[in-house]
Amino acid sequence: MWKCKECGCTTFKKTIITTTEVLVTFDEDGEEEEKEVDQSNECYLECKNCGKSSSIFNFIEDIAEWEE
Ligand SMILES: [Zn+2]
Repeated sequence: MWKCKECGCTTFKKTIITTTEVLVTFDEDGEEEEKEVDQSNECYLECKNCGKSSSIFNFIEDIAEWEE
């Protein structure tokens, strides 16, 4: 299982941040018209016990070591 490099804890907190970008135009009535939608996810992992966290994305290797 994965164990935190810092404290050996085996429980991690995962934070998923979804960013939605929408390109809009406005017609003569001022009504909003959506043109393009772009969605991206960012994922962070953090040790539940000591708060050691990965830089970006889902890199468990950054903060934990595998032990049988
Ligand atoms: Zn830890």
